[in-house]
Amino acid sequence: MDQPTSCLSHVLIFPFPVQGHVNCMLKLAQLLCREGLHVTFLNSDFIHRRLLSYTNIHLSYKQYPNLYFETIPDGLPDDHPRTGDRVVDLFNSIDTVTKPRFMEMLIARRFSILDRPPLTCIIADGIMCFTIDIGRELNIPTILFRTISASCFWAFFCLPRLIEAGELPITATQLTKSAHGLILNTFEELEGPALAQITNNISKLYTIGPLHVQLKARVATNIKLTCTSSSSLWEEDRSCIVWLDQQPFKSVIYVSFGSMTVLTRDQFMEFLHGFVNSGKPFLWVVRPKSVAEDYQIPEELLEGTRQRGYIVEWAPQEEVLAHPAIGGFLTHSGWNSTLESIYEGVPMICWPFYADQQVNSRLVGEVWKIGLDMKDTCDRVIIENMVKDLIETRKDEFAKSARLMTKLARKSVSENGSSYCNLDRLIKDIKLMRN
Ligand code: UDP
Repeated sequence: MDQPTSCLSHVLIFPFPVQGHVNCMLKLAQLLCREGLHVTFLNSDFIHRRLLSYTNIHLSYKQYPNLYFETIPDGLPDDHPRTGDRVVDLFNSIDTVTKPRFMEMLIARRFSILDRPPLTCIIADGIMCFTIDIGRELNIPTILFRTISASCFWAFFCLPRLIEAGELPITATQLTKSAHGLILNTFEELEGPALAQITNNISKLYTIGPLHVQLKARVATNIKLTCTSSSSLWEEDRSCIVWLDQQPFKSVIYVSFGSMTVLTRDQFMEFLHGFVNSGKPFLWVVRPKSVAEDYQIPEELLEGTRQRGYIVEWAPQEEVLAHPAIGGFLTHSGWNSTLESIYEGVPMICWPFYADQQVNSRLVGEVWKIGLDMKDTCDRVIIENMVKDLIETRKDEFAKSARLMTKLARKSVSENGSSYCNLDRLIKDIKLMRN
């Protein structure tokens, strides 16, 4: 791999310790390493242990000699579920345990050990805004990376105005303005109107998505894909690809609610009835502990589930979405999942859970028109009808708009595309930062 030899830029990348955030920030880390920058990736102990168990991340040590992993406690006991319904615990423990530890590590120059140059830039997850103050105190420029859609970022950004107007009782994320810049995993052609608003408020904005494709596109040009393949915190069950190989073209509904969502037993049953009754083959990711109560598949659904369903605990999602047998994706509308689906031209049924997901599902259903928004309903008849609509009745209509989005996504990450150029600009700006 070609690398500029004497690059003294050293970036600390610090994701919020959950799957979706680690996924795209690790991809950015690898992209920066390819350009010769030194990158320290700061994982929680918990996440790092899981990456070592379930991925080939150790290969990246060899592939990128300028990529260093360091760890920090997230403050939660190992047996804490770290699911979406308990995410507040993670926010609290990060505030009380991780934040002071982070400060200590920076003061002790913990990341400049051995022959690593001093830190010249911090790229921190935008939901950990405390990094801006710490960076400023130590004179290290801090760029925030928000892993949500630009539209949702803009919605959050406007919340103070709504609060001022007495319309909302919650606080928001205006602090981003005091960072050196903002990175978003999106592309200009997808979220133009929201980005135009954000640009008026944030001087340095870098839209560099879809990141999972930027990495593949750039890496594929000269080195093997070995360590871009997965950053999964659960073991990927590849048997589902073999199962998909046996299914007809665009016939399968892929179902996954991401890494944090927890379903009640009743919701699980409504989905199962809906899938079986739709008569379509379904591949369903049911993560361990992702259904809150114990359940048993009812007698009347056993046959239909066995005939048409395939259930795994964790799937190689990017590969699944790229499979020709996939006709639709029933998703919780996490931003990574949404981008991955857009990139592969797979129409979606959205069942948003929390955070940015309600905004994303509305974009899919009402703005881009590449799927259906189930909102917060969870009813077997609605599920059955939506699956049939997506895979069968309205498939041509969705396929047409999905194809258009895919085209735009591909263009944005190809040479001279908007995200491609923005990533180059980010790298150039980081290289100009000196400590
Ligand atoms: N994912 C995966 N296998 C699965 C389910 C999800 O690899 O079986 C990946 C998916 O490709 C995505 C991430 O996990 O990159 C989930 O991120 P997202 O932002 O969609 O949702 P979150 O988990 O943060 O709610």
